[in-house]
Amino acid sequence: MASTTVEATTIQSKDDDFVIYGPDCTVYNDTPGKPHVLIIGAGIAGLTLALLLHKAGVPFDIFEKSADSRTIGSALYLGPDLFSIFHQLGIAEEIIEQSKPCHSIDVYSENRERQFRIDFALLREMGGYEGRLIPRTVIYNILLSKVPPQNIHKPMRMLSMTQGENGVHIRFANGAEVEGDILVGADGAYSAVRQTLYERLKKDNILPASDAKDLPFSCVCLAGHSGTLNPEKFTELKDPQCHFYNTLGTDKPYSESSKLHNNFRTTDWGEGAVGSMCDEIRDYPIPGGDGTLTLADLIDGTPMSQMTKVMLEEKVFDTWYHCRTVLIGDAAHKIHPAGGQGALLGFHDAIALANWINVLPSKRVKHTEYIFKEYKKERYPFAKAAYNHGRNMSNVSDKDLKATITRFISKNMPHWLWKMFLTKISAQRPQAAFLPYVQDNGTVKAAYQHSLVKTTKMMKDQAAKTAAAAAAAAAQDGASNVVATV
Ligand SMILES: Cc1cc2nc3c(=O)[nH]c(=O)nc-3n(C[C@H](O)[C@H](O)[C@H](O)COP(=O)(O)OP(=O)(O)OC[C@H]3O[C@@H](n4cnc5c(N)ncnc54)[C@H](O)[C@@H]3O)c2cc1C
Repeated sequence: MASTTVEATTIQSKDDDFVIYGPDCTVYNDTPGKPHVLIIGAGIAGLTLALLLHKAGVPFDIFEKSADSRTIGSALYLGPDLFSIFHQLGIAEEIIEQSKPCHSIDVYSENRERQFRIDFALLREMGGYEGRLIPRTVIYNILLSKVPPQNIHKPMRMLSMTQGENGVHIRFANGAEVEGDILVGADGAYSAVRQTLYERLKKDNILPASDAKDLPFSCVCLAGHSGTLNPEKFTELKDPQCHFYNTLGTDKPYSESSKLHNNFRTTDWGEGAVGSMCDEIRDYPIPGGDGTLTLADLIDGTPMSQMTKVMLEEKVFDTWYHCRTVLIGDAAHKIHPAGGQGALLGFHDAIALANWINVLPSKRVKHTEYIFKEYKKERYPFAKAAYNHGRNMSNVSDKDLKATITRFISKNMPHWLWKMFLTKISAQRPQAAFLPYVQDNGTVKAAYQHSLVKTTKMMKDQAAKTAAAAAAAAAQDGASNVVATV
């Protein structure tokens, strides 16, 4: 049943002909072998999953609506919690070469006085790897370059899907149709996969009320990615360390956060009302250089096409899967960027899901739903925790009483409490069960990883069964030969 036809074909709109449980719900998909996985969205989560499935030998295709790389934001913090998987995927060296170490965030006032430092240098010894800052386009391109090009299809914008016992069927804006065994919605905050799935679940009265509500809007953000800056003016660029500054506005409508790093290239993630927002914030004082820098110095060094105004929403959805469809990354949880954990969740979701897909015992829906349930069980608590962390971090730059209290706590947090927090973060170093385990020298032991432990055991049990069957067959052969000889 699983087949892929990615050439654009002319078909007339026949939405009404599609029913949720597939063209023929009496047919069960019992074809042997690994499932064919269809991934919608070639962002960080989708590409990471694609790369993992490629390594696991699971057939997949990934569909992206944009013709070119489209990466949101400026730069990403990659903590020790990501380097085990980067080593497993063979991309750690490239990432290290193209990023800079980053160990703290300095919080400044509007008159360029440092208020306090959020210092996470301890993560290096706790997690065994140095935290690094990397331009989003660079990490995106590294992932993209490792996925076989014949498996990436773009521009292909998914419109709708139908699913059932006999497979999942997807329709694209260019008229193409594709069938597979599993559909992964890695298509970001406004996920078409999620919307199509939820519409159907709503009609069937099985969508939780919380999921029927829109993404709640929380703040506006202007993000950009400058051209090459003059290190004589932005003197921090000469430093091998990356400087991460956060400036709190007192009488300004916004707070500012800049990551000074000398490897920024282009980013292009959509049109926005950039111009007027730039005008509003040009005179905003920023730290660094000779002490007279303002945001105008950064804005003037940044092409308009590399800046975007974004409306940010926050929500952790309750429904992450149904039948043959599962959501990962921002499609399942949209987190406030102040916590810097959105992309991290996408990477970690992909690892857990890949571990489970690799051991899927059959293509029957009872089995796809079983592995999706296990995947959600592992990842949902982290999404919730990241959501809360993002909320708290966004408070650092807010202007109300709660924000003042949050800043006071951040400034005066006892060392033992901060260490406890860092210990918890550094312990999350998930790995793929089907790739050789990577030993690190972190002083904090890696935490229990549900999918790694369970699927490693399943693979071992399967290998033992196969070996026993082979031994039984060999013994049988031996017995037949003896009989034949006698
Ligand atoms: C301003 C800003 C700064 C941020 N900074 C950080 C940070 O420092 N650290 C961090 O960890 N996170 C950060 N984040 C969050 C991070 O960017 C996201 O959490 C992360 O990119 C989510 O990855 P994703 O792959 O799930 O989704 P996306 O990156 O949104 O990728 C989804 C992909 O799906 C494609 N797509 C969408 N619809 C369709 C369709 N119908 N058919 C086919 N393809 C489709 C899109 O074109 C896109 O390529 C930031 C976010 C913002 C907005």
